[in-house]
Amino acid sequence: MIPRQEELIVSSTDLVDPCGEDSDTPVPGLVHRYPDRVLLLALDSCAAYCRYCTRSRLVSQGEMHPVTRRLDAIIAYLEEHTEVRDVLISGGDPLLMSDEPLDNLLRRLRGIPHLEFIRIGSRVPSFLPQRITPELVVLLRKHRVWLSLHFCHVRELTPEVAQACDRLADGGIPLGSQTVLLKGVNDSEEALKNLFHGLLKLRVRPYYLYQCDPVVGTAHLRTSVQTGIDLISKLRGHTTGYAVPTYVIDAPGGGGKVPIQAETLVAYENGTATVRNWAGKTYTYADPVEAI
Ligand SMILES: *Cc1c(COP(=O)(O)O)cnc(C)c1O
Repeated sequence: MIPRQEELIVSSTDLVDPCGEDSDTPVPGLVHRYPDRVLLLALDSCAAYCRYCTRSRLVSQGEMHPVTRRLDAIIAYLEEHTEVRDVLISGGDPLLMSDEPLDNLLRRLRGIPHLEFIRIGSRVPSFLPQRITPELVVLLRKHRVWLSLHFCHVRELTPEVAQACDRLADGGIPLGSQTVLLKGVNDSEEALKNLFHGLLKLRVRPYYLYQCDPVVGTAHLRTSVQTGIDLISKLRGHTTGYAVPTYVIDAPGGGGKVPIQAETLVAYENGTATVRNWAGKTYTYADPVEAI
């Protein structure tokens, strides 16, 4: 969270818009990349600023109007695009909106019959847990919203954060968490295990572990992909499946999220799959023999 001198070093592979979102933006504040779901950017401020932010080109730059001023165009686009069934509201942090405009946004989205799944991506439960008021929980439940939280280290799971997560879970809000793999912060088996076990205790399901996007000035925070593969291999099968998120690279250039894991399908020939388990042993599985 604290700026460091290394941020001034720009590496040749750094990108301003690492996930290529700008080229998938049909109306301002909406990224439509996958066939059935969209990313809605609600506002450009956060409760604190992650130094590795994938959207640092927009966030806190003061150039993006809040969603309240862009909403009509967004709603019109979504009404027209009946193939969209899932809206992810992110930003900036949507939970920095006060209850009334947030309620209005969710009500407008819920008025579109083909939108069956609405989630909010937020770091507010970790940065500003006092924002998780009983009134906010009622509002989120009323609109049947899922929450994607964001935690990078077990030290973020303070008693105040635990209370906020409890309030959300008790209020019936499904909770997932996203983590960015960061060099010197959480790039060890112990750090990730402690974080993911800590999240499960708070009824938060680790959802994605992101390879850090190559944002301008973040080379000092990034690990190799091999580091990520090795770390996930030390978790998968070795601990509760719910505690192991999907490790993904958000492909530079707009390819979307691509899951990465060590090869577990060693061979697959003549209807026989050879698989490698968590302990490194191999086994075979035979496909059903077709009836003659
Ligand atoms: C991550 C993301 C989504 C949601 O992807 P899921 O795999 O469904 O969580 C949708 N749109 C964009 C542009 C995204 O980056």
